[in-house]
Amino acid sequence: MPAPRRYVTEAIVLSRFDYGEADRILTLITPGGGKIKAIAKGIRRQKSRIGGSLEPFAELRLALAQGRTFEVVTQVEVVHAWLNLRDDLVSFGTASYMAELADGTLEERHAAESVYILLKRAYEILDAGMTPGRVARWFEMHLADELGVRPEVDRCVECGRLLEADERYRWMPPLGGVLCDRCPGPPFERAALSLDALKLLKAYQRQDVEALAALRVRPEVEREVEIAMREFLAYSLDRKPRSLAFLDEVRSNEAARAHAAPRP
Ligand SMILES: [Zn+2]
Repeated sequence: MPAPRRYVTEAIVLSRFDYGEADRILTLITPGGGKIKAIAKGIRRQKSRIGGSLEPFAELRLALAQGRTFEVVTQVEVVHAWLNLRDDLVSFGTASYMAELADGTLEERHAAESVYILLKRAYEILDAGMTPGRVARWFEMHLADELGVRPEVDRCVECGRLLEADERYRWMPPLGGVLCDRCPGPPFERAALSLDALKLLKAYQRQDVEALAALRVRPEVEREVEIAMREFLAYSLDRKPRSLAFLDEVRSNEAARAHAAPRP
């Protein structure tokens, strides 16, 4: 039998589960090979050489041996650890959410370099302290773009007319974006999208991360855009990530704590 092909690649762990007595199976995203599954043998033993470094939310350099079902991890080196993003539950939950979105929308062994770069950038800016909600929206918008389902926020999805600043808008995820006020559709009270939310959606498509981080936006508008993107991804990617429930719970606990805190 020929020796298995070995290769070295950058990778980010998207998910993992324990397997057998001491092994762990990892779902990885890599720049060249897209999403792949790999097994780390003996990793849960105390003396494992590679144990502690095979964590999510880090960019790793892995030596892999090609296997029939799974690649086999033979060496691990941590390239970027992004330790700050683990310190806070909301940013940790956001990192999990983005990994789950990437995991759920990529097919195995299909090149996905642009998604790799996107996830890496998202972890970098989350680690650098950008508001988790802004990072998540930026990631959602660009992931949708990479997957070919960019939401339409400039023209009406029905008649193609450029949206104007003095009209009313409806957010229609099943149609792929915004419906103008001249086209027939559901009543405005059921699907209304505010002008500020429309502007913020456009900003996520057009502005770079630094400009987005500096935007001043009312919390209601951030919330409106969050719900809009959640609905949009649920339709266009057929995804309801499990980590969203965790994130919602962490945030409602934090909100409750902030509310209960004594005033100075
Ligand atoms: Zn229209």
